[in-house]
Amino acid sequence: MVSATCNAPTVKAPSDAEVLFNGSDTSKWITPQNNTTGPVTWKVENGYMEVIPGKGGVRTKESFGDIQLHLEFATPTKVEGTSQGRGNSGVRFMDRYEIQVLDSYDNRTYADGMAAAIYGDTPPMVNVARKPGEWQTYDIVFEAPKFNGTMVVAPAYVTVFWNGVLVQHRRPIMGSTSATTTVHQYTPHDPELPLTLQDHAHPVRYRNVWIRRLTGYDQPEGK
Ligand code: MG
Repeated sequence: MVSATCNAPTVKAPSDAEVLFNGSDTSKWITPQNNTTGPVTWKVENGYMEVIPGKGGVRTKESFGDIQLHLEFATPTKVEGTSQGRGNSGVRFMDRYEIQVLDSYDNRTYADGMAAAIYGDTPPMVNVARKPGEWQTYDIVFEAPKFNGTMVVAPAYVTVFWNGVLVQHRRPIMGSTSATTTVHQYTPHDPELPLTLQDHAHPVRYRNVWIRRLTGYDQPEGK
């Protein structure tokens, strides 16, 4: 029998990646607190870090533009709540553009609010959720939006593999994904900004978080 804590294939960080969380060291993260920053408030044990509901999210100290991100997450084994009230968290690129983390195993919610959705914009192509408590993987290519003054020259694009399955294929993001009921739009911002893992009041776990900057590599024609 496979332990619930080690069931997912772990993708080892390649040599050009920066490891953001190796299972114990949270020194690359902070918790925003009242417009200042403090040490990470999450529980760190057994190779993962876990949201302590109400204690805030965690944000990278570093800023990023175009990246590949790998992370693994697990929603709580004990199933409580329904819809958005169950295993909710999120991966927020540039602190604005959220790929949803949710317990989407036999848990109905609005389509663009399920796991691997561009929150409030675009559902994943297919639901490949694993059971609550099982480790799941996100491999995400995020391309930052490009601005010229107040104009959007190019939107953000995101490609998501969820548990190894392509579920977002270079989808444009319509703007900041703060709430599903509001119009999503862009507000110009810096070309690089931090990455945030969200506290949405549920004890979701994360492990094996690494990132690769995609600038400086040859890009295909027409990019
Ligand atoms: Mg969320």
